[in-house]
Amino acid sequence: MATTSFISSLARRLEGKVALITGGASGIGECTAKVFGHHGAKVVIADVQDELGHAVVDKLGSSNSSYVHCDVTDEDQIKNAIDKAMATYGKLDIMFNNAGIAGANKARIIDNDKSDFERVLSINVTGVFLGIKHAARVMIPSRSGSIISTASNSSTMGGATSHAYTCSKHAVLGLTKNAAVELGQFGIRVNCLAPYALATPLATKFLGLDSEDLEKVMDSVANLKGVTLKAEDVANAALFLASEEARYISGHNLAVDGGFTIYNSALN
Ligand code: NAD
Repeated sequence: MATTSFISSLARRLEGKVALITGGASGIGECTAKVFGHHGAKVVIADVQDELGHAVVDKLGSSNSSYVHCDVTDEDQIKNAIDKAMATYGKLDIMFNNAGIAGANKARIIDNDKSDFERVLSINVTGVFLGIKHAARVMIPSRSGSIISTASNSSTMGGATSHAYTCSKHAVLGLTKNAAVELGQFGIRVNCLAPYALATPLATKFLGLDSEDLEKVMDSVANLKGVTLKAEDVANAALFLASEEARYISGHNLAVDGGFTIYNSALN
């Protein structure tokens, strides 16, 4: 009996919660918006791709979601997005700092442009810093909240992608650890996700492959065989970190990589 009621309580795991998702118009963010919405959350989608962002709201329903234009590198825009969530829904329980770019695909450091390096750091690092900062601003008074950021398997290993991207994702992990230490006193949990490569516009553009070919390539070098990583897998990991089931988990980097990083470090 107890088991049945526990399982049914998992059916809508974010009932009554309010979430803001940066980069929510595409890929992992779009899928997470749908998963969070399915689990009862009100979702604010913040992105720079307005048409795609509005299309996600159309799918979720305008009574459960809204869109705000937000370039995560601009502090006023991040502040405005969070203030909009507060004004529309009265609180912010979950902040998902997910917006990111891969930058140019140039393997050799001597070919890397400073401007591309700085652009990747601006979106992937400064954007996450601003997201954590302004989420903390509204979560501290309520003494609760879950802040999640999308790092990557490149947050703990080298050589999987560009110098800028690897550097930026290590920084997301550093920000996560620091913020988790500081914000724990307010009951705010701070975690990040470390996915393996999956077919989204970011990855297909970076590798110059269509989705099918990208999945074939990544499956061929994956640790876990017979399973292809999908955006739903990352969204479900975000759901767990956002939910009450993860209420004692903070400062964690949750690998969604089928064991790729431990396999890789075992070889090196
Ligand atoms: P995606 O391109 O489908 O989605 C990224 C979203 O971020 C887009 O909607 C884009 O418009 C938005 N964005 C970009 N710059 C922005 C800015 N300045 N302000 C606001 N929004 C902005 O790619 P995705 O793969 O879903 O990427 C989501 C996150 O997942 C990124 O942080 C990425 O680094 C990370 N990630 C992706 C993979 C992968 O292989 N796809 C693997 C590990 C981690």
